[in-house]
Amino acid sequence: MSTQNLKEATIAIRGGRTLDSHAGSILFPLYQTGNFVHDAVGVDKGFSYSRVSNPTVDALEKAIAALEGTPSAVCFRTGMAAITTLLFSILRSGDHAILSDVVYGGTIRLFREVLDHLGVTGSFVDSSNPANVEAAITPTTRIILIESPGNPTLKLTDIASIARIAKQHSILLAVDNTFLTPFLQRPFELGADISILSTTKYIDGHNATVGGSVAAHDEKLLERLRLIRKTLGTIQAPFEAWLTLQGMKTLPARLRLHCSGALRVAQWLEAHPAVQYVFYPGLDSFPQKVLANQQQRGAGGIVAFELKGGGEAARETLNHLQLCSRAESLGGLETLVTHPSTTTHADVDPDVRQALGITDGLIRISVGLEDPEDLIADLDQAIAASMIMNQKERSAHEIRQPAG
Ligand code: PLP
Repeated sequence: MSTQNLKEATIAIRGGRTLDSHAGSILFPLYQTGNFVHDAVGVDKGFSYSRVSNPTVDALEKAIAALEGTPSAVCFRTGMAAITTLLFSILRSGDHAILSDVVYGGTIRLFREVLDHLGVTGSFVDSSNPANVEAAITPTTRIILIESPGNPTLKLTDIASIARIAKQHSILLAVDNTFLTPFLQRPFELGADISILSTTKYIDGHNATVGGSVAAHDEKLLERLRLIRKTLGTIQAPFEAWLTLQGMKTLPARLRLHCSGALRVAQWLEAHPAVQYVFYPGLDSFPQKVLANQQQRGAGGIVAFELKGGGEAARETLNHLQLCSRAESLGGLETLVTHPSTTTHADVDPDVRQALGITDGLIRISVGLEDPEDLIADLDQAIAASMIMNQKERSAHEIRQPAG
């Protein structure tokens, strides 16, 4: 049965899956092996060495391709390995790339620490205005890499508009779709050439693995990716691939719950007197709500909010959490809360951070699948505790420095 006719929940469980012809196992087997025996010189069963390919990784690639709606996909050891291998496959010395200013910090570091030294330059622009992307194009621009929603303020980029600009200039458009996955946003239907996922996040969904994938319709591009993956040694490991294959089966069901839980938490935060602002594409107050409704099929599971008490209030709130975990990742069952200005964006220049809206009072929540009312109770007590601590600090300061 062609996956084209299947609904998404079915594709997540059945799409691209092949049955185990050996023993009939319902789950595709884990081929935990480094190498494969040749039947004769030059005759093998399609596999030779697990740095090149592996049947379990192959099975994950077919499943991800079914989700993306592409003929195939290529899987990597991490999301960063996917991005690195993609950029090494496309860019040569003298080439230029344009990236959203809010792309994942590791991608920014890749340019600063590696690609810049190899003669490849990157321009980081506010891609929420497509004119900025067009203005940054040079005769050597080979790829535009955007992330929407961006991290951590969830700033959106109009993917279809950027795709039109990229096509006019014959430049490839890649979308890092980690925050929404193909279930909530379809980059290829919006005109993108390449979709990138850190499968570490929602695709696995259980905080159990790290991994990445690249999907495209252009088989020649994917062939080159496989060659560069073999060269750099960035292929996904069999056990991680096997776990990811299991985790991704519940992706649509999980994402529905992530979205409804995140909306409930965002609405509660918006009504809280200590909260200055909430960033969540599902709220009516979200400045790019119209674009979110146009290009997304759901608002996602990430909420960011800014406390009126600034950096001190944010730190105290995080330190008083009892249920939610202080951790940097996202997309899993457990709710993770992070303070971007001292973690994910700590090495971004403070002025740039400010310009991106990453204030010291900003907190990002990856809303997990615990009951939202329990999450709210935890946030409530943590924010209250931070306000008491702030009050105590202020009183102590006043005693140390008496008025007059
Ligand atoms: N892309 C985005 C949007 C991410 O958030 C991350 C990690 O947080 C990555 C890529 C890198 O993925 P990984 O941590 O799997 O290398």
